[in-house]
Parts: sequence; structure tokens; C-alpha cells
Amino acid sequence: MQTKLADFIKNSPQGKEADAILRSCVHCGFCLATCPTYQILGDELDSPRGRIYLMKQMLEGQPVTSKTQLHLDRCLTCRACETTCPSGVRYGALVDISRGIVEKQVNRTTPVSVLRYFLRKILPNKLMFNGLLKIARMVRWLVPGSMKKAIPAHPVSAGEWPLTQHGRTMLVLDGCVQPALAPNINAATARVLDKLGITLIKAQEAGCCGAVTYHLNAQQEGLDYMRRNIDAWWPFIEHDKAEAIVITASGCGATVKDYGHLLQHDEKYAGKAARISALAKDVSEVLNAELEHIQHRMDQQNIGSDRMKLSFHSPCTLQHGMQIRGLVEKILTTVGFDLTHVPNAHLCCGSAGTYSILQPKLSQQLLKNKVQALESGQPDQVATANIGCLMHLQGGTSLSVKHWIELMDERLP
Ligand code: SF4
Ligand code: SF4
Repeated sequence: MQTKLADFIKNSPQGKEADAILRSCVHCGFCLATCPTYQILGDELDSPRGRIYLMKQMLEGQPVTSKTQLHLDRCLTCRACETTCPSGVRYGALVDISRGIVEKQVNRTTPVSVLRYFLRKILPNKLMFNGLLKIARMVRWLVPGSMKKAIPAHPVSAGEWPLTQHGRTMLVLDGCVQPALAPNINAATARVLDKLGITLIKAQEAGCCGAVTYHLNAQQEGLDYMRRNIDAWWPFIEHDKAEAIVITASGCGATVKDYGHLLQHDEKYAGKAARISALAKDVSEVLNAELEHIQHRMDQQNIGSDRMKLSFHSPCTLQHGMQIRGLVEKILTTVGFDLTHVPNAHLCCGSAGTYSILQPKLSQQLLKNKVQALESGQPDQVATANIGCLMHLQGGTSLSVKHWIELMDERLP
């Protein structure tokens, strides 16, 4: 695609990156078939190709309106289009750059600005989020249907965190909302890794990965969260105390793996960020490397009479963001789960960070479709790999929804 970027952006690092991405798009339209918002709305401007066209116009200096902002807001950043695109267009990076510019040029209404402000201040802050969750539990009976199911009625126990010191050590990202909503996920990971001879530790100062804030277009604030995590992890990395950074929420995993790219122009942090990204591993990657060990442990127990039918929702950040496909399914099958077929498994469930709050109508439609697909194989249980998807799906189904590592924890001898 021919481009002629405007003076305000063309010589900046972001402008050069956006220009290269725009030029890689050949306008073939293959991506339309897998875009969830295009499937629902049927409007070219709510498709990847249409949005690329809008972003090109904006970057070439044409006036930006609230209509441009609306079409970009409706994008889930699910990156299904990247998986489909034969030309390797890095749509996610382009939309990040463009949203930051639109945010500066188009004012939002006061209620929307206030909502976005509170989301980016509360969600990454564990203390504030914990407080709000306690209040939400108290008034849970007042909350309507699907939202009510997404608020856990009682605090969940994490269970024991093993203290055995093995020869191998890995760090785990604590995250922001996950410790309050589902503390068992990281504790289950620690127990599973302990059985495999790996000690899992936390860096106390690390917290939110920065994704929530960054994707609410407060990009500098998001980068500060990333720098804070790098500072917290660095003492463990510098002296090779930790061989990997394990991430149990795929939304955070996709972001940490992108630290190197997002901080590439920060002189002080670029090198460290690249190293952190190289060490970041989704928990499925860690377990996949231990598959023989897992198989060996399973061979010692008879699981024939104890099989469970499971439906796995692969989050967009896992299958499109990190391009990890089939690993969780392989591991779960190894430990004796029967996985059901999930139609249209490439489509987003509608959670997408804060999307379920900011675009509730589209989000609920996607949730309905996803639950139908997950339930079509009549599973006993649903599993996923990201806390946001987990809470969102739980709001739409009466089946229990768990992180798959919790099931591994229950199953692995
Ligand atoms: S993003 Fe990729 S698939 Fe979509 S129109 Fe451009 S080149 Fe084609
Ligand atoms: S990221 Fe997802 S919603 Fe956005 S344009 Fe691509 S496929 Fe469509």
C-alpha cells in the first residue's frame, strides 16, 4: 500500500513503524473472515482492512473524528486478523500507535472519560481492587444476572504454596486482579512446578503488567508499570537466579513478551526489557517442555475410570497474541482429559481487557456465541488460560470455569 505520512509523525520512531506496517498491507481482505466485529456488524469500517484504512487516513493528516475513534474502540485487539493475514501485517502494533494519537485529538464525553480513568486507576491497584471486590460481594444480591455470576460469592482459598528449594527456580508474575479473584491459579502453578522439580517465587514489588493502562491509551503510564516490573525482576535475572518468568494469565503474557518492543526506544530500559521478554513464558510453554516428566508421573497412576470431558477456550492473547496453539490441549490430553471440539475456536469471547465494560453489547453477543460453542460438545467443565476470559465466561454459563493449571494441580500425581 502506498503511504504519505503527515509531518507530525513521519520522522518519529512510531511514524516509521506505522508506515512500515501500513505498507505491508495489500488490501486482500482475507482478514475480514476472522474478524469478530465484522462478523457481527457487517461494516467494512469495523473490519481490520477498514480500520487500517481509517488509521492510514489519520496518519496522513486527515481530520480525525469521533467516528474514527468509535471504529477503533470497537476493535477487541484480539489479533485474529494477524493470524489470518498472509502478508504478516502487524495490526496490533498499528492500532496501539493509532489509538494513542486519536486519544489526543478527539475528546471523549465526560462520563466515558471518568469511567476510563477509574478503570485504569483501580484495576492495576491491588489494594483498591480488593476493597471494591469486598464491596461487590456484599451487594452481590443486587447485581443483575451475568455480572452476578462473575463476582465470586466468597473469597477463594489459594491453598498451600510449596517451600521446597529445588535446583531450578522460576519467577511468577503476580498480576493485578488475579490474586484477588483467583489466588489459586498461581498457587496451583507453584504446586505443579514443585512436582516437576521447579521452585516458583514472586518478586514482591512486581504487579500489574501494564496492559490495562496501556490499552486504555494512557501509554506512558502503562510503560511505567512495565519499568517497575523490570526493576523488581532484574535482581533475580541479573545473577541467573531465575531461569524464566512464568505467566499464568495469557493477557499479561502477551504484554510481557512485548516489553522489548514497547520499550525499544527507552535507552535505560531497552536492553533489560528485551531480556525480560525473552525469559517470559506462558505456563503452557513451561509444562510442554516437561511433558515427558508429566507423562512418566501419569503412567504411575490409573486414570482410565476417571476421565472428564473438558471444553477448552483458548484466549486470543494465547492463540493470536503469543501464537501458542495446541500446547494446553496436548498437556490436558496427556493427563487424561477428553477435550471436546469447539466450533469457531479462533473467535474472541468478548472479554478483551476492559472491552466487556466499555462495549457491553458487542461483548455480550460474543459471550453468548462463545458459550454456545463451548457447551456444544456437552462438557463437564470449561477451562481457559486467562483470568479475564475466565470471569467473563463464568458470567455466561452454569458450568464451572477454571484455569487449566488448576485442573493440572488436581490431576497430576
Ligand atoms: S491486513 Fe492482511 S489480510 Fe487484511 S487486507 Fe491487509 S494484507 Fe490482507
Ligand atoms: S484485532 Fe480482532 S476485532 Fe480488531 S480488527 Fe483484528 S480481528 Fe477485528
